[in-house]
Amino acid sequence: MIVTRNLQKVYSGGGCAVEALRGVSLEVADGDFVAIVGPSGSGKSTLMNVLGCLDAASGGYYALDGEDVTRLGSDGLARVRSRKIGFVFQNFNLLPRLTALENAALPLMYLGVPLRERRERAEQALRNVGLYHRRSHLPAEMSGGQQQRVAIARALITQPPLLLADEPTGNLDSASGGEILRFVESLHEGGTTIVLITHDEGVARRCRRRVEMRDGRIREL
Ligand code: ADP
Repeated sequence: MIVTRNLQKVYSGGGCAVEALRGVSLEVADGDFVAIVGPSGSGKSTLMNVLGCLDAASGGYYALDGEDVTRLGSDGLARVRSRKIGFVFQNFNLLPRLTALENAALPLMYLGVPLRERRERAEQALRNVGLYHRRSHLPAEMSGGQQQRVAIARALITQPPLLLADEPTGNLDSASGGEILRFVESLHEGGTTIVLITHDEGVARRCRRRVEMRDGRIREL
């Protein structure tokens, strides 16, 4: 699913350059379930942004699902993102004025799916996360755990082969976090490839594989 070779990312601005990725070579097989751990500032989010085609690397090679994405411009990266990757973030990132149903359906709008099909698929996606009964509620009317389940429904609605999760339980109490993790585990059992960033050892232990970042490099254990 993922092959990177010697990925580099340099942030330049304000007169000084920061080497956030210093040669990351990583392979993630189809169906794998990988935790990326490491101290703050070690490059986890930068790696996630590059793997998620949200940001381009400064150097090195990256192929996602067999496609070399290193040379794509912003339109090409957006196309890969919308077809291949589901994102789950620590802060849920739901749109506050949209209902649960509208939030879940959003990625289909970008793909040009007709309204009626969008609604039907979003209803099914909410059923899958146990929130069909909350479909007309706004994010502010739901608990953190429920909001994250809506975010997962949104991430999965296009049936992407890869799920990227950045501290998905970071803002949740342990009961809601446990529920989200069990759901992520069930996705893994269903064959979705998952890459999850966490600084929580308990979360990392539940993944199949652990990749540790240090100073922009990988230390695999
Ligand atoms: P982590 O997610 O492990 O905390 P990051 O990927 O956020 O690490 O950061 C890696 C390094 O890159 C840090 O030194 C950070 O300060 C720097 N960095 C991250 N984003 C930017 C940016 N947009 N501009 C400049 N430096 C950045």
